[in-house]
Amino acid sequence: MRIEQVESGFFKTNTYLVSDEHSNQALLIDPGGDWRKIRAMIQKAQAKVAAIVLTHAHYDHANRVQEAKALTGAPLLVHRDDAPRLQKISPLMLAARWRPHLAPPPDRLLDEGDMIEIGALHFEVIHTPGHSPGGICLRYKKTIFTGDTLFAGSIGRTDLKGGSWPALKASIEDKLFILSDDIHLYPGHGPKTTIERERKYNIFVKLSPAQMDELMFGIKAKEKSKEREGE
Ligand SMILES: [Zn+2]
Ligand SMILES: [Zn+2]
Repeated sequence: MRIEQVESGFFKTNTYLVSDEHSNQALLIDPGGDWRKIRAMIQKAQAKVAAIVLTHAHYDHANRVQEAKALTGAPLLVHRDDAPRLQKISPLMLAARWRPHLAPPPDRLLDEGDMIEIGALHFEVIHTPGHSPGGICLRYKKTIFTGDTLFAGSIGRTDLKGGSWPALKASIEDKLFILSDDIHLYPGHGPKTTIERERKYNIFVKLSPAQMDELMFGIKAKEKSKEREGE
């Protein structure tokens, strides 16, 4: 297995190209950001992209799907719970006056436990909702692409539409942290890491819902519980 990566766009999204050296087939993960950089990576690798998969349907991971499909002819795969948001223009995009590059409809809907076969590489779909309802991680042996579920020393936002901190915490603790220490993680933003490092040092995963509220919205956990009592 060979992994190529480019980091591009305003949100510094990681796009990965994972190739099977024997069959020369490849999986393109999260084509979002600067198309020229992504295209250069694909062309340089000289592999045949057999599928395009999104770890989730946020715009910064999906806005170059149109171009990627046109270049490679590969099908688009996305989890069923994120598929409906692919063709939606968010108010944020309009406010920022971005010219939206909407993704085409998916060719295959993914579910927990599905396999994506790229030559000899068989990627397992791990459904990890929380950052978005249809967020997934993709696992092949000791390598996992985590999207915006888990970063080196951080986690994906849960204040966006469809986000949930209890759901994300459960996804990380019950589906990723149960795996072996020596698994390498390739996140949707920032540098790569390992299960061991995140389990030991990622303080965000340890936060309770009340502590997360305090951190994100400045609501003191105590005040909030008083509010609740007063209701
Ligand atoms: Zn995201
Ligand atoms: Zn992202």
